[in-house]
Amino acid sequence: MNEGIAPQTIETIGVIGAGTMGHGIAQVAAGAGYKVLLRDLDSAALARGIAAIERNLAKGIQVGKLTEADRDSTLQHIRGTTKLADIAVADLIIEAAPEQLELKQQIVREVEAHSARPFIFASNTSSLSITEIAKASERPQNIVGLHFFNPVHLMRLVEIVVGKATGDDTVAVVREVSRRLRKEPIVVRDVPGFASSRLGVALGLEAMRMLEQGVASAQDIDTAMELGYNHPMGPLKLTDHVGLDIRLNIAEYLFRELESETFRPPEVLRRLVNEGKLGKKTGEGFYNWNDRSNQQSANGPQR
Ligand code: NAD
Repeated sequence: MNEGIAPQTIETIGVIGAGTMGHGIAQVAAGAGYKVLLRDLDSAALARGIAAIERNLAKGIQVGKLTEADRDSTLQHIRGTTKLADIAVADLIIEAAPEQLELKQQIVREVEAHSARPFIFASNTSSLSITEIAKASERPQNIVGLHFFNPVHLMRLVEIVVGKATGDDTVAVVREVSRRLRKEPIVVRDVPGFASSRLGVALGLEAMRMLEQGVASAQDIDTAMELGYNHPMGPLKLTDHVGLDIRLNIAEYLFRELESETFRPPEVLRRLVNEGKLGKKTGEGFYNWNDRSNQQSANGPQR
């Protein structure tokens, strides 16, 4: 049992990490009327997260999806902090820190040490084992995966990942919360890559191998999937959005766990990460994002 935590008792959501995913999770939670405490390590990272939320909200108003009152209410529901102790009052903590098992386990230990009351801890991990993360916890029945998709405010899917120790009542709570966030939850067993990453990463890595072999430019490989299969975004562009470093970590993990050549990280991915070309967030990955008018593939055969 998760010590009496029910969907209606969730009032405050703590979000750990204000990066690509954390700021989006904070935005949708605040937009749904939850009080949100957003935590990052320093005030510069927090400010970047809040600025990204403000940009998303401004765009929402521009396209007529949101009103100015929605924007003001969302922003009023979010409080940023750099202190871990501040989020100890949260009923549900959603962790969106970098994809490293030891870091996530350390965060579980730290938040449990700071919090006097029971809470549900949901990890937004793309690929790590929830069962392993929960080994750091005093209350593994309260630990669950809540895998959002990028960009969080636009993508409707959320994967609820059920670890070996995760309680049924914990799953029930995060399912309800997900619906209130206007997401469509699916429930997945805790296996490497869950339901979505395994397939998505396999496609992305094959696209990189095709680029290495000079089959086509990054742009043309992406166009093949966008126009031929109706994917809203091609696999290389998607990798630039996700972050090449994050994709490399996930590929290395799946390669190790599934022992399949499908997930062996291609050389081009390692090289770009070593060069600091991590995708949109650094201005360059498979595309040059600083040159929006002429978005040529920077790192593959040119047309
Ligand atoms: P990111 O690098 O953009 O952001 C991570 C943030 O966490 C950074 O701002 C960093 O300063 C902060 N951070 C690091 N340690 C912290 C700590 N101890 N406390 C608070 N903040 C801390 O990463 P991201 O892309 O948002 O990914 C976060 C998680 O979400 C990862 O587990 C990733 O696998 C998962 N995920 C990412 C995507 C994606 O498309 N980027 C999609 C689904 C899931």
